[in-house]
Amino acid sequence: MNEHDSEKMAGMLETMGYESTSNEKEADLIIYNTCLVRKNAELKVYGNLGHLKTLKKKKPDLIIAVCGCMTQKKEIRDLIKEKYSHVDIVFGTHNIHKLPELIANHKQNPGMVIDVWEEAGDIVEDVPVRRKFGFKAFVNVMHGCNNFCTYCIVPYTRGRERSRHPDNILKEIEQLAKQGCKEVTLLGQNVNSYGKTLENKITFAKLLRMVNEIDGIERIRFTTSHPKDLSDELIYTIRDCEKVCEHIHLPFQAGSNNILKKMNRKYTKEQYLELAEKIKKEIPGVAITTDIIVGFPGETEEDFKDTLDVVKKVRFDSAFTFIYSIRKGTPAAKMENQIPDDIKHKRFQKLLDTLYPISLEINKKLKDKEIKVLVEEVSKADDTKLTGRTRTNKVVHFKGDKSLVGNIVTVKITNPKTWTLEGVLVEEN
Ligand code: SAH
Ligand code: SF4
Repeated sequence: MNEHDSEKMAGMLETMGYESTSNEKEADLIIYNTCLVRKNAELKVYGNLGHLKTLKKKKPDLIIAVCGCMTQKKEIRDLIKEKYSHVDIVFGTHNIHKLPELIANHKQNPGMVIDVWEEAGDIVEDVPVRRKFGFKAFVNVMHGCNNFCTYCIVPYTRGRERSRHPDNILKEIEQLAKQGCKEVTLLGQNVNSYGKTLENKITFAKLLRMVNEIDGIERIRFTTSHPKDLSDELIYTIRDCEKVCEHIHLPFQAGSNNILKKMNRKYTKEQYLELAEKIKKEIPGVAITTDIIVGFPGETEEDFKDTLDVVKKVRFDSAFTFIYSIRKGTPAAKMENQIPDDIKHKRFQKLLDTLYPISLEINKKLKDKEIKVLVEEVSKADDTKLTGRTRTNKVVHFKGDKSLVGNIVTVKITNPKTWTLEGVLVEEN
């Protein structure tokens, strides 16, 4: 979500005549698009802002801006005002489209410009976007979240759930397809509740079917799915629409019913297991990935065993794993029995030790298989190699010419590893 917001900011800046640079010292404008999901991300921003003080002294015309989830919090804005007075512009998640105006304001009236909206306004369409890749693109289908999982800051920084009108989504994807885009990833905090806020209600499955009809688009991905809202209609749609990839990211967060209840996730361990089973049965070759949190307040050894049990039963292709991080303003931050760091770390390691061998076993089954791969870029580590992704979202490395970037090719898997697959190119189709 943040990455795509950054693409929108880059798009607006390009229309203003800015070009991007990877060298901080060359920049006339530096924007930090921040995340507040975990403490580490927050601390990193303070470190980076502190470090920019020296650069700003040497180059007083440099404009420094901070935006994203952090600036939605008043206490963080106060901290920036007090400790990082060299920051020029502060804006939030709801008014990204105002960036050009804020830069102009700052140029006219030097001093810190702060413009953060507490509430989201109407969804702003037609913001220019500078996409990282031409052949694949993120497309927002909805903004915000209404779920209020008790550990999570997102509903407070991104506001209430709002769906984009399907006509606007389809128009954007048709435009992308005309420009040569082959893969779209539909974005929302909980795509399964897409359409509920629209005047003419429509389900996410229906939206997928409409995107599936767009000529030129070859792969459709989406993230994230909340287990409580994943319908049979959606499972059958993924199965039946040839462009919708066989990959579901289905965060389960914790295995114990007691913890799931405290997290306000609104499903039980048994319901999650049943859902994963149904998905595997109905969608041949599907990859299921997940998000898991360890060390939620009050988590006992027994509770944690339930998390490991879900991992062993579902056998995820891969997982994003998190150590619970206290987020001020969320209900879980005030819960008793916060788990000590050493226990959190021990459980975290045990979780990884359980997940990784399963990923490797699953990937090993792909040895000698010929798989379609969308080539994304020349490998960073070795410029004779290319990196791409399977429909199941696995990263593949293989030798090939850079002219293949953006094409869908066939690769034979020779060496499957835990996180990536190595292979050889067999067909440049
Ligand atoms: N809307 C998405 C997730 C958004 S946040 C969903 O519901 O799946 C991405 C992930 O960060 C979450 O799935 C969760 O696993 C993790 N996360 C969120 N808040 C956290 C916290 N306070 N501590 C640790 N991990 C957290
Ligand atoms: Fe956060 Fe839960 Fe909303 Fe995901 S569904 S963004 S975890 S509150």
